[in-house]
Amino acid sequence: MTHQYPSLSPEQKKELSDIAQRIVAPGKGILAADESTGTMAKRLQKINVENTEENRRCFRDILFSSDQSIANNIGGVIFFHETLYQKADNGKLFPQVIKEKGIVVGIKVDKGTAGLNGTNGETTTQGLDGLSERCAQYKKDGCDFAKWRCVLKISDGCPSALAIAENANVLARYASICQQNGLVPIVEPEILPDGDHDLQRCQYVTEKVLAATYKALSDHHVYLEGTLLKPNMVTAGHSCTKKYTPQEVAMATVTALRRTVPASVPGICFLSGGQSEEEASVNLNAMNQVPLHRPWKVTFSYGRALQASALAAWGGKAANRNAAREAFCNRAKINSLASKGEYKPSGSADQASMQSLYSASYVY
Ligand code: 13P
Repeated sequence: MTHQYPSLSPEQKKELSDIAQRIVAPGKGILAADESTGTMAKRLQKINVENTEENRRCFRDILFSSDQSIANNIGGVIFFHETLYQKADNGKLFPQVIKEKGIVVGIKVDKGTAGLNGTNGETTTQGLDGLSERCAQYKKDGCDFAKWRCVLKISDGCPSALAIAENANVLARYASICQQNGLVPIVEPEILPDGDHDLQRCQYVTEKVLAATYKALSDHHVYLEGTLLKPNMVTAGHSCTKKYTPQEVAMATVTALRRTVPASVPGICFLSGGQSEEEASVNLNAMNQVPLHRPWKVTFSYGRALQASALAAWGGKAANRNAAREAFCNRAKINSLASKGEYKPSGSADQASMQSLYSASYVY
């Protein structure tokens, strides 16, 4: 193989790179509001709200109709299919509401995980069939980026070589299809926090998974300037008895990323992975204070850690809409500061924001 056959035109490359840069512009991160209907059921159950289409719409309306200043902190919103075609209280389609604020609209395009036979409960992620057609339609319907989540786990013998190779390849194939359709792919190889492993083991596994992922992206001729990475932070397993400081987590994470993620990638947008809202913010802030050069933006793409306080404040009651919106905007502001290494915790974080959002073998 001595050369690459043309795949993306200079115009297509410019469009992809411009989109990616807009999403991770200074002080901005991503709101992951792409919980599937099943995941929303669990969220709503916690606050005793029935999982109806209207209640899902209602909660998303609270988030999406935040005032214009939210665009200083949020560069992109990831939608679930259903939400893309729902309307805000003011009658406008949600994607239009988001775009009018200057925020980029994204869409979850994977179809969940499926078991890898012969492994110790490991998975790959499905959804490649018909993906190109779906991406083309989503682009027409206002989307400019996409998300696909792969899941790996740490335990005896895991992740296996098969799980690492298969998930890297499927992420690369997905990314290539997205780019052909004008969508910036968020590449998400999530290593779950389940287990009692220490920080060093997580760092080692994260480096192996990311190295394999970027080899596969290269093999598939993915244009890295038009991608974003959504990794786990390097943390000890949830049941590890040794506790690590945010500075230790940040040093292990940034070290792993510097060893594996090319400088051409515009941004690294962490998932929160069951950390409490405050923990996710403090760790992100520490990443941006690590005394190591970081060639990419280091920011957030949080689901649980941007919505937990808002959900609790809402409780399904119309009278609480403003309080819920305020809680969401407050977390977005804090994470924006953290993405610049400028967050100074006041020491008076409320109970809700300190609560662990962990659940075992998390499904999104
Ligand atoms: P959490 O921030 O809740 O981990 O989820 C982000 C996400 O989009 C996972 O795919």
